[in-house]
Order: sequence, then C-alpha cells, then structure tokens
Amino acid sequence: MKLKIETFMQEVRARNSHEPEFLQAVQEVAETVIPYIASKEIYNGKNILLRMVEPERAISFRVPWINDSGEICVNRGYRIQMNSAIGPYKGGLRFHPSVNMSILKFLAFEQVFKNSLTTLPMGGGKGGADFDPKGKSDGEIMRFCHSFMGELCRHIGPNTDVPAGDIGVGSREIGFLFGMYRKIRNEFTGVLTGKGLSWGGSVIRPEATGYGTVYFASNMLATKKDTIKGKIISISGSGNVAQYAAEKANQLGAKVVTLSDSSGFIYDSDGIDSDKLAFVMKLKNEERGRIDAYIKAYPNATFHANETPWNIPCDIALPCATQNELDDVAAENLLKNGCICVCEGANMPTTPKAIALFHKAEILFAPGKASNAGGVATSGLEMTQNSLRYHWSRKEVDEKLQEIMENIHSACITYGTNENGYVDYVKGANIAGFVKVADAMIAQGVV
Ligand code: GLU
Repeated sequence: MKLKIETFMQEVRARNSHEPEFLQAVQEVAETVIPYIASKEIYNGKNILLRMVEPERAISFRVPWINDSGEICVNRGYRIQMNSAIGPYKGGLRFHPSVNMSILKFLAFEQVFKNSLTTLPMGGGKGGADFDPKGKSDGEIMRFCHSFMGELCRHIGPNTDVPAGDIGVGSREIGFLFGMYRKIRNEFTGVLTGKGLSWGGSVIRPEATGYGTVYFASNMLATKKDTIKGKIISISGSGNVAQYAAEKANQLGAKVVTLSDSSGFIYDSDGIDSDKLAFVMKLKNEERGRIDAYIKAYPNATFHANETPWNIPCDIALPCATQNELDDVAAENLLKNGCICVCEGANMPTTPKAIALFHKAEILFAPGKASNAGGVATSGLEMTQNSLRYHWSRKEVDEKLQEIMENIHSACITYGTNENGYVDYVKGANIAGFVKVADAMIAQGVV
C-alpha cells in the first residue's frame, strides 16, 4: 500500500513540484483514500484521485487598481475551479500577501471534500489575490474589489461558481464585489455568499464557521460522554472564525483564555467573556487594530509577541488562524499540558507531524474539512434561500447548521473508526468526502 501511495504522490509531485501546501493536502488525502480505493472494486482502476487533484480550471489574472496616492498598483488574482461533479464550484476568496497557486490549490482541494461532507450540492473552488488589505483605506479596498470583480465576473455565476469570504474578505469586501458583479451583469442573483441581510444574505452566515467548529467539538466530546461546559479553551486567530468560536464556547459555559493575530497572542486567565469579546470584535472588525490593544483595556491579561498560544495549558485547542500554525513542538506542549481535543476552525492549521502526535496519543482531533464546514454549509443554505427568494429565521438556520455538523460527525465515525475503537476523523472525513464526489464522477463518465 505504501508503494501505491508513493507512486501516486510521485506523479502528483512531478506535476506540482513548486506547490508544497497543495502537495501536503493531497498527501493527507492519498494516505487515507488510496487504501480505501484499493478495497472497493468500483473505484479501482479509474484514476479517480488523479483526476481529482487536477483542477478543472485554474484562472490567473491581472488586478490593476489606484491607491490613495494616485499610484497604479498591480496584484495577481486567481480562481481555482477544482471540481464541479456534485454542484457549482463553491469556496471562498482570500486576500493576503501569501496567496499563490499552491495555497489556493490546497484550499480548493480541501474544499471539494468539505463541501461534499456538508451533504449539500456544492462543488469545490477557491480564489483570491496576493493583495494585502492591512492598512488600506475603505476607498482602496473598494477600488481593488471592483477591479478584481471586473475580471472574475466572466468566470462565475449562481449556477457556475459561487465565491464567498475567507481570510481578508469579509462582509465589506463581499459588498463591493457584489456591487460590481450586479452592475456589469445587470443581474441580482446569489452569485456570492456572505452577503448583507438586506441584499440576499442569510442569518448566522457570519457566525457559522466558528459556531460549527464548536458544535463539532461538542459532538466529539459527546463520544466520551463529556461536554464543553467548564472546559478551558485556547483559540488562535481573532478574525471571523475565532470570534464566533469564542462566542459559542462562552455560551456553552467554557472559558476561552487566548486569541491571537499575526503580531502575537493574548492570554487572559480570567477568561475572555462576552464583554471582552465585544471589545475584540470592535477592535478587529471596525477599528482594524492589533490584538495587543487588549492588554491595555484588560491589564490582567498578557501579550506574547510573535508567539502562538499552544504553550498555554488548555483542555481544548481551536486553531482558527491559518495553515500550518500548529506544529509538532506545539502539539507536544498541548499534550504535555493535558489537552484532550483539538478541533480545527482554520483550513489545515495542524502540520502532518503534529497530527501524527495527536493520533498517537489518541486524543480527539478533527480536521478543518469536517469541523469548519459549518461556514460553507451555511453558504449552501444562503444559496437555497436565494433560489427560493425567501429567508429563514435564526432558529431555522441554526437548527439546520447543528444538524449538518452532527451528520458530518456521524460520517466521520462511519468511515474513520479504527479496529480499537479510536476515531480517526482525518480518515473518516477524507473517505466520506471522497465517496460522494467519486460516485458522481463515475456516473458522469470521463469528462
Ligand atoms: N472560506 C470558507 C471555507 O474555507 C467558506 C467558503 C464558502 O462559504 O463558500 O470553507
């Protein structure tokens, strides 16, 4: 089996040799899915995984825009349309200086499995630009978004490809993007999700990724007859996912002690309660400030520059910042301090070595493609509401979100339970996500 996986990876490496993040995401899937394919006659000999790692389409384009000083700037925009076998391409847009083909292909590849897990009819895609929103004025953000959509609008549509937000793309950016799409196409449609409530958005969409991650952690703990209540939780990040993961954790009676951004992390042993969280939300969403402002407002807390929060003792760790933010050293610290559950709110925040350590210690570990799927699942619910030209209540959407997270959890148990009873959620998510897409691809022939 090792040889089969290695032969496959050699072929993928040869074709994508300069894309380390993409190769990392593919390797993780190959290790769990290739043995499964070998055990199932219907998937054998069809090169399905080889077809899945090749994007159906990868678009790269120039994004020229004018800054506040009147200078002409140029960024590179992308949209990776990975797989549309089970529905229109669906996935976020990331604006961050680190964005390149490798990062977007890894995200688009993960999105295919994640979207399949939600049970909703969505294919997988991802896009963005190497644009740094940090320090930019609202006017600059608007001009950039308009220029970006000037090209992207040719490639997307409510039945073709439906982007949403990701790092650096929130409701402000979705607004500017939607405005330009509507103007150019002269069409008011559900072409983007994460829209404002008065123009086609869904309630709970902003909260959904963070809430869903905590719902998933609750489902995992329930398998050990345990709950979130009273647990000490360490969260990284302070953006959309981290904020609402903290909110839901607080609502369920846990104590959140850390948050972070690219400058470092804050530790508040008293807990980041709802008032303190409101401060962080204002700081990050309106003032667009740095996380160290927290210790000026709450002097009992400490700020740790250029560090991640994984050396702080906690029961549950929710990495909600970015890819590869939790490495093997961090994993050893978490295990040493008695952490029992790691549930990813970000995409691929845990390195392969760190995952191996969690599996070896047999603690609860959930990969983002399962545990953070609540965001895109609620995007799927936004698409449904747009098609119906209707909107559901908070209660209705939240119930559907909880049900979807429960179903994803059950699918992981079905496909991921090892002989000794330990649930390998990575294996479970990869195989469950694979099956639906693979079946659709087989049914549709070699296209
Ligand atoms: N960017 C989010 C994710 O990683 C959401 C994508 C969407 O809603 O389309 O799943």
